[in-house]
Amino acid sequence: MIYCNIAFVIISIWVCASVTAFSEDGIVLDKHHDYEEMTTILHDVKRKCADITHLHSIGESVQGKELWVIIISENPTVHEKGKPEFKYVGNMHGNEVVGRELLLNLVQYLCAEYLKGNSTVREITRSIRTHILVSMNPDGYEAAYKLPYPKDYVIGRNNANDVDLNRNFPDLGLVQCVTGDSNHLGFNREYMRIATEGLFLEPETQSVLEWIMSTPFVVSANLHGGDLVANYPFDNSCHGNNREYHGSPDDRTFQYLALTYSQNNPAMDTFTGCDLADGFDHGTTNGAEWYSVRGGMQDFNYLASNCMEITLELGCVKFPAAHKLPYYWKMNKESLLRYMETTTCGVKGFVKDADSGEPLPYSRIEVQGIDHYVVTAADGDYWRVLAPGNYNIRAVSEGYKPAAYQAVLVPECSLGSAMSISFFLRKNVPQESSLEEILRSLEVADE
Ligand SMILES: [Zn+2]
Repeated sequence: MIYCNIAFVIISIWVCASVTAFSEDGIVLDKHHDYEEMTTILHDVKRKCADITHLHSIGESVQGKELWVIIISENPTVHEKGKPEFKYVGNMHGNEVVGRELLLNLVQYLCAEYLKGNSTVREITRSIRTHILVSMNPDGYEAAYKLPYPKDYVIGRNNANDVDLNRNFPDLGLVQCVTGDSNHLGFNREYMRIATEGLFLEPETQSVLEWIMSTPFVVSANLHGGDLVANYPFDNSCHGNNREYHGSPDDRTFQYLALTYSQNNPAMDTFTGCDLADGFDHGTTNGAEWYSVRGGMQDFNYLASNCMEITLELGCVKFPAAHKLPYYWKMNKESLLRYMETTTCGVKGFVKDADSGEPLPYSRIEVQGIDHYVVTAADGDYWRVLAPGNYNIRAVSEGYKPAAYQAVLVPECSLGSAMSISFFLRKNVPQESSLEEILRSLEVADE
């Protein structure tokens, strides 16, 4: 009997070892994780890496599942002065699951490697506040998860109210098309009223929208599936046409961000599209040139806030078999890390009152020739991601004289490569009264 038990244990261990793929950090790579399992992993990471993680929910799905966000950073609970914020959003379409599993791997990887003393991960953790929403559509995921293979192509894409969350954001693209303005439209009440007319924001959309508008995010990516490409703004075509290039004022920088992801991913870099007609260039595409999307999250980020978001399509198969998942980790691990580092590229600094030294929040950082400003955060701190090149940059703040443009050479992006430029502004001096006005005021005083 004892021998039988020992044989059973040995066979069990052999079977487990032969079917489970672990990463070098002990991460289970070849398994899909449902809502309960995802939640368990996030709490495990929170426990193992308590000093550098903060787990919170930004809201609930239609069916009451938490929208978990794990923050990974030294001092994770607060925005630190001068530290840029980054986000990854996975599984917005519930049946597009590769991103969800990659983000679960990434969270575990960052924690394990931090504990091991990996110098790059330690530097990322020190210099970036990273927010990861593993699943934006947990209800849709559960619907797709329960289906047998081969999975339906559409079931689980939408949320539990059968709404496509990537068509459910305020349509600021419409405002941009009409006005030509792409600057912080989310802070303009009239523009937001027009963009949300006749639109019911789903609870998942509302939660993410509030999160975007309340956090000074710098860079972001939204992880999807069904093709293999890094897609950059605008998604929305002003003429409703598909296959019409619609670049944003930051087109060059967005191309650079998309290439940073695709060129570090051997599968994506050379891929031209699941559909031969796609014709992707080095694994990248302008959104509107591929197909037009209105009310998408990517354009909302850029038009409403400081945040520069791209959309990543991670493979032609939306819900691959579990044993294929280690391949996706292998292809994407480097890309996921390099893309995070772009948060620390371009130009950064502070805007302050030259006399008092007080920070000047909500000052504009303007780049000559690019009609898109970013604004300073509460501590007067800013980050302006830019593709490598020469730029002239200045700060403008209400009630202050605009700073003179400063020339800056932005180098190739690497972790921490942002150039530092701070601006110290002087208050506008009230116009001197004319002699005539002074005399008139004296006459009034005499009476
Ligand atoms: Zn999608």
